[in-house]
Amino acid sequence: MATIEWRSPASEMAVRQFEIADEKLKLDKNVAGRLKRPDQALIVSVPTRMDDGRVHVFTGYRVQHNDVLGPFKGGIRYHPEVNLGEVSALAMWMTWKCSLVGLPLGGSKGGIACDPTTLSRNELQGMTRRYTAEILNFIGPEVDVPGPDMGTNEQVMAWVMDTYSQHKGYAVPEIVTGKPVDIGGTAGRKEATGRGVVYTVLEAAKLLSVDLSKSTAAIQGFGNVGSVVAKELASLGVKVVAVSDRTGGFYEKKGLPVETLLQHTTKNPGLEKCPFGERISNMELLELKCDILVPAALGMQITGGNAARLKCRILAEGANGPTTPEADEILRQKDIFVIPDILANAGGVIVSYFEWVQDLQNFFWTEDEVNKKLREILTRAFHEVLGMSQREKVDMRLAALMIGVNRVARAMLWRGLYA
Ligand code: GLU
Repeated sequence: MATIEWRSPASEMAVRQFEIADEKLKLDKNVAGRLKRPDQALIVSVPTRMDDGRVHVFTGYRVQHNDVLGPFKGGIRYHPEVNLGEVSALAMWMTWKCSLVGLPLGGSKGGIACDPTTLSRNELQGMTRRYTAEILNFIGPEVDVPGPDMGTNEQVMAWVMDTYSQHKGYAVPEIVTGKPVDIGGTAGRKEATGRGVVYTVLEAAKLLSVDLSKSTAAIQGFGNVGSVVAKELASLGVKVVAVSDRTGGFYEKKGLPVETLLQHTTKNPGLEKCPFGERISNMELLELKCDILVPAALGMQITGGNAARLKCRILAEGANGPTTPEADEILRQKDIFVIPDILANAGGVIVSYFEWVQDLQNFFWTEDEVNKKLREILTRAFHEVLGMSQREKVDMRLAALMIGVNRVARAMLWRGLYA
């Protein structure tokens, strides 16, 4: 980003993507200058009582990129690699994502640098509540609405909701999305990101005449996104030949038993002790021959270093920022069809938006209604992006960015500069 404080490999990548879109869009210079950097950021210390009695001070962040289209919206990530630059990049991507799929929301992101897999339930709760208290005046139902992201889940969202509500003195479910249904969450949120990835894969398969019942998939990451993608693809007859998580992966040419893997991970922390097929690394998984490759874990996995070795037909980005601009160039030459992150994984924030709307209205929808509306929005966005890519002769990532960025820039020009 423009100033040193925001800089990290992820934020440089997000800005580079923006600049590539700007080269085509030729945005107003003043608007472009503003969009390259966040609106504001908060760094907080999160003292947490650990089970052994000592107090560990974690570092937490909340970065708000742009709210010209509506309140800031974005998840909370718990991961050791969380830092200001990464959270800033993720906040920027949220702005383009919400804009691309037509939500009246802006982009933000939060996180704590920690390894949640090593924390007890007690420690996780203490850390989450203190983080929420520290960012309390920075967020709000009309200001900035957090949601889940990597390393957080509906229990964490429930603690965020409860902490905020305790401070206000009454229940405020609309402060956060991804909550359990029992306290104002929506049906279908947990599955929404993975389901959305599959809805976009269905459109890509139709376009490219790929018969899904005869195709294969490799999925990197078996968390909330990857596991649902595996389940949904398997139900469509796709052979899931490889899956992985942070402990590594498995490859079975004949297809892995997805249902058994899903059952295993509900009872165990990871895939490690699930004995199917051949053991492979996360990096090897990306280079397997398959029809559909779904990175659904960390960013910057597909780079100038390995993109040339990819052998998939469709790359559906469940993760945020899994592919670098150098890799994009190579994938274009190889004619791999990329469903970019801000389109492929937008299902999560779309259903978060539905949850926020339902909370504000105190009126709840059925899971069928949620899924139907989700599919409508994603299918429309997919064809808008495809149309732009064909008209402008650009790849799907650039087309998606052009639509997302341009809507935000137009809104900024209408609203003008308050001085
Ligand atoms: N973490 C999700 C994303 O990256 C969605 C966050 C939300 O629902 O607010 O799109």
